[in-house]
Amino acid sequence: SYVGIHSTGFRDFLLKPELLRAITDCGFEHPSEVQQLAIPQAILGTDVLCQAKSGLGKTAVFVLTTLQQVEPVAGETSVLVMCHTRELAYQIKNEYARFSKYMPDVKTSVFYGGTPITKDAELLKNKETHPHIIVATPGRMNQLVRDKHLRLGSVKVFVLDECDKMLDQIDMRRDVQEIFRATPTQKQVMMFSATLSQEVRPICKKFMQNPLEIYVDDEAKLTLHGLQQYYIKLDEKEKNRKLNELLDELQFNQAIIFVKSTLRATELDKLLKDCNFPSVAVHSGVSQEERIKRYKAFKDFQERICVATDVFGRGIDIERINLAINYDLPGDADSYLHRVGRAGRFGTKGLSISFVSSEADQEVLKSIEKRFEVALPEFPAGGVDASSY
Ligand code: ADP
Ligand code: MG
Repeated sequence: SYVGIHSTGFRDFLLKPELLRAITDCGFEHPSEVQQLAIPQAILGTDVLCQAKSGLGKTAVFVLTTLQQVEPVAGETSVLVMCHTRELAYQIKNEYARFSKYMPDVKTSVFYGGTPITKDAELLKNKETHPHIIVATPGRMNQLVRDKHLRLGSVKVFVLDECDKMLDQIDMRRDVQEIFRATPTQKQVMMFSATLSQEVRPICKKFMQNPLEIYVDDEAKLTLHGLQQYYIKLDEKEKNRKLNELLDELQFNQAIIFVKSTLRATELDKLLKDCNFPSVAVHSGVSQEERIKRYKAFKDFQERICVATDVFGRGIDIERINLAINYDLPGDADSYLHRVGRAGRFGTKGLSISFVSSEADQEVLKSIEKRFEVALPEFPAGGVDASSY
């Protein structure tokens, strides 16, 4: 059996220290699976459509990621969260209170029907009390907008919790749509639910642009749509030659190559540069500042190949990556998912190739196939059609 050595902590998400402190105060030690999948990309502004069993911590995904991004401006609301019941709205507001306790400048308010609207209106009239984050039910929210108590021109993030519920009910859906239209076109949209039927998914996606789609049916079952996954069996000493060959032959936009140590990342990066491949190395062996700088260079397409370790792999959101190579296979199936999930992102096309060079690698390969119920065939000798990834 194989024991995974990589375990992601909230620290790996590059959250503000104020948030990390609050997370510790809340007693959260390890991010749940859905948090691991959603938070790294959501903090970068990616649209998110997320289905995961209740209790997996979906609330914290949008609460943390919106708090991470919020830049409070007096009199302006930048985050809008809607849900279908008052109780839930209230509960979410409390989550904001918990996690923003070290962010005294950020104001959150909750609005829902059944209370005097004049109170809400008064709160919104005063710059001192005007919230930066609003949690609301759609009916009251729409009323506030229609009556011009609230303007949504500065909204940057639009969140729907229990989204299928809200979009199923015709009157709620109408309110949501009206509110949505009152917000700027350029914004982040995130939707969450424990249940997302095949029918409701396209309706949700109409509100989004190229969303990260996460469907966690149960803890053991995750799906990567549209990603072609292969392995290549070879000796350790053949890896460099094979990699060289693949990078020459494959047509890719951007590629990410995963290795098992910072030392190997540095060495492989150097080797690739010596072979005139436009490469950059990103791993925990370099300072945070330098890491971000290199990450940006890669994201801005200044470099086409990134050599990385696991730690960084989880945070990367780069649309152009359509090739992921496991130069070293990771230690466990979950790390594999996070790594290859960088290629083409969930729901879009991509190609992943894993080098398998030891008995231990064979075992990991098997566990990946079992864990995600995928077949991982050998990379075809003639290569694969470039239009397929
Ligand atoms: P969901 O929206 O998926 O139903 P919630 O966000 O309501 O789940 O979270 C369920 C419970 O789990 C809440 O009490 C929340 O505080 C707790 N929780 C969420 N994430 C973590 C974590 N990483 N560690 C510990 N507890 C967590
Ligand atoms: Mg929830």
